[in-house]
Amino acid sequence: MSTTAPCIISADWLLPITSEPIRDGAVLVRHGAISAYGALDAVRGVAPPDVQIDHQDRAILMPGFVNAHTHLELTCYHGQLQRAPLWDWFDKLIPIRRESGAEEREAQGIHRAVEMCLAAGVTTVGDITRTGASIETLRSSPIRKVCFLELISGASQPPSAFEELVAMFKRLQTNLNKDTSLFANRLTLGISPHAPYTVRLTEIAACMDLARDRQIPLTIHLLETQEESDWLRGHGGTLQAILESRGLATGDQQPTDIDAWYTQTKALDSGGGALLAHLNYAGDADIQRVAASDASVVWCPRAHDYFGHRDHPWQRFIEAGVNVCIGTDSLASNETLSVLDELRFVAAQEPTCDPSLLLRCGTINAARGLQMSDQIGAIELCKRADLVAIDRDDAAPDEAAANVIHGSGAVSATWIDGQSVFQKR
Ligand SMILES: [Zn+2]
Repeated sequence: MSTTAPCIISADWLLPITSEPIRDGAVLVRHGAISAYGALDAVRGVAPPDVQIDHQDRAILMPGFVNAHTHLELTCYHGQLQRAPLWDWFDKLIPIRRESGAEEREAQGIHRAVEMCLAAGVTTVGDITRTGASIETLRSSPIRKVCFLELISGASQPPSAFEELVAMFKRLQTNLNKDTSLFANRLTLGISPHAPYTVRLTEIAACMDLARDRQIPLTIHLLETQEESDWLRGHGGTLQAILESRGLATGDQQPTDIDAWYTQTKALDSGGGALLAHLNYAGDADIQRVAASDASVVWCPRAHDYFGHRDHPWQRFIEAGVNVCIGTDSLASNETLSVLDELRFVAAQEPTCDPSLLLRCGTINAARGLQMSDQIGAIELCKRADLVAIDRDDAAPDEAAANVIHGSGAVSATWIDGQSVFQKR
């Protein structure tokens, strides 16, 4: 089948996410975009007479999953680090990343990670890269991605200051603009000031201004640990000692309170739409403050469990109207890079949770968090034909969303721009 010829992909159930499920549904793909969807007969009626139909037998067809928070360059460390509090985990991770040959191992790990994502029906990732090395590997891979270039003030490797981040970003963007290779247009560059305690306050504010002015996706780790929460709220605590002993102190003074931090960094100012990673230790005031902004929150359920954090307040964020996304974090603190595995993990912990809500967190919400909801995250007209077929599980409820979440059906096929990128053998 020619990749540019229109084609129909059909299945027992179509689950568009932003509209009602359709039994015996189909999607018409033209030039990589969704040009019609609905009941198979209706879609066939608007397609060319000789259109090819790719029927996914006993399957549910839905938009590809969007993983809003990962670090693919850590894939090669899978299984090497024990479950532990974050700081102890960092202490083990940092030395192994400095061993000889690490760069090559990490690059190979990224190739493997992309294969794992596609096999799990993940069609877009929000990937954070410490030095930009993963961007080179990812730009020639078929997965759609937002590559966030990470800033740590005073880091031993660049970017270690805001000016350096801007110079690297411009250089990468210029190269990307000239890149006519097959998958170059599936890469969007973003920036990521790492966290409040590793980036100078003035540099976080500069990143927020840049992202807002240039409409660049931005993500930042925030309120990830109890120690960070205490520090941001001006409660003494142990973070300063943790940072100093690891050479991570930025020289900034401890914030007097978190409201001052929000104000000075402009993290929640309108027009920014920052993607806030984790917020494990958010209180009611933080939730209300985020809800009044256009920021999104991404939480990583299994990594959250891995690091032994307290219960995540994700449902309180949703009740407050916040856009909540799902991420996997890296394979150095997780078992798979599957968003579906994350959602099933949450459902196993909270069986009464609405399956449709969970699926939105792993598709359209995550797309919005990456500032891509105009292109991906749902089966809607003119969106890219990024799709996944999941085997229907006869032992699970018949309703499509519940069948995906409460069943154990595997991903049987994945498409990006209507092109097959994974097919279960
Ligand atoms: Zn992270």
